[in-house]
Amino acid sequence: MELQVLPLEQSRPRPQNESNLTFGKQFTDRMFVMDYLTGRGWHNARIQPYGPFVLDPAAMVLHYAQEIFEGLKAFRRPDGKIALFRPMDNMRRFNRSASRMCMPEVEEEFLLHAIKELIRLEANWVPRAEGTSLYIRPTMIASEPMLGVRPADQYLCYVILCPVGTYYKGGLAPVKIWISDHYVRAAHGGTGEVKTGGNYAASLLAAREAAAKGYDQVLWLDAKEKRHVEEVGSMNMCFLFDGKLLTSPLHGTILDGITRRSVLTLAHEMGLKVEERALTVEEIFDGAERGLLTEAFGTGTAVVISPVGQFTYRDRTVKLGDGQTTGPFTQRLYDTLTGIQYGRLPDPHDWVELL
Ligand SMILES: *Cc1c(COP(=O)(O)O)cnc(C)c1O
Repeated sequence: MELQVLPLEQSRPRPQNESNLTFGKQFTDRMFVMDYLTGRGWHNARIQPYGPFVLDPAAMVLHYAQEIFEGLKAFRRPDGKIALFRPMDNMRRFNRSASRMCMPEVEEEFLLHAIKELIRLEANWVPRAEGTSLYIRPTMIASEPMLGVRPADQYLCYVILCPVGTYYKGGLAPVKIWISDHYVRAAHGGTGEVKTGGNYAASLLAAREAAAKGYDQVLWLDAKEKRHVEEVGSMNMCFLFDGKLLTSPLHGTILDGITRRSVLTLAHEMGLKVEERALTVEEIFDGAERGLLTEAFGTGTAVVISPVGQFTYRDRTVKLGDGQTTGPFTQRLYDTLTGIQYGRLPDPHDWVELL
């Protein structure tokens, strides 16, 4: 498929202060868009000025939530070059999400090519300040105007970009986690492993209640027994437990995170035993009290690694260490992963793709 580049008439305001970027608020000058029609396939692939779409009020995405997305980052390296981290993994996951939501798959190589072209055109939007990056958001929505529950015949696929800052301004800072004993995120057979907006819409109420109680994030338990740890917000969870790195297995209810995958590989290389096994709530509390659970952290593209300082479940709270300090292993993983992403460390797995 051909990729058209439409002229840009006007530039958007650039961030004044790169060390103070808010996540997801400011977008670059251009976006990638392509259209889909059943019978015709994907067509009219173009890079055009960033701006609103004209969408019919009956567009099916607005009523039945047929929507998927991805999230990856471009990093500015010390030599000025721009790098993507495992981008093909995001393309593949986008297609896995598409098939679960009865949406058309895209050609993975072509979408990645289009993203690279877009970033080349927007290269001066890739920030240079320490810890900053360009967040890339591929999205697909059902645009057919029709009130009826069935897969749409018309879709838009688009990619928007936003320069983002470091998540933690003063270095890694442990978060407070609330374990929900009431709300659940995903059940077996549902859409827990799909990157789809509906999962997030369903999680808002629990997040709001947690925030009102002073917690940063909600940790979800399995929907059936409400005992086993699943994941947190938009992050997978890892635990340093009895000297091993534990993380929940991928059995359809949690997202197959690319950061999670990378962390498992790195931890293994650091000599740690890695096990894909879901911890229970009792193990978190007993383990922390007995000194078996020493560190815990979330993993995801946006935050990279987010250390956990304390867990609360019903009326029980437990701290890891003093609750304020990032554990040494968590810090080491963060430094290694970001080192590879920014080109400060070698990349033995060929995870990085230079533009
Ligand atoms: C995107 C996402 C993650 C993290 O995946 P990464 O590929 O590491 O960014 C974890 N959980 C949920 C629910 C997500 O949507």
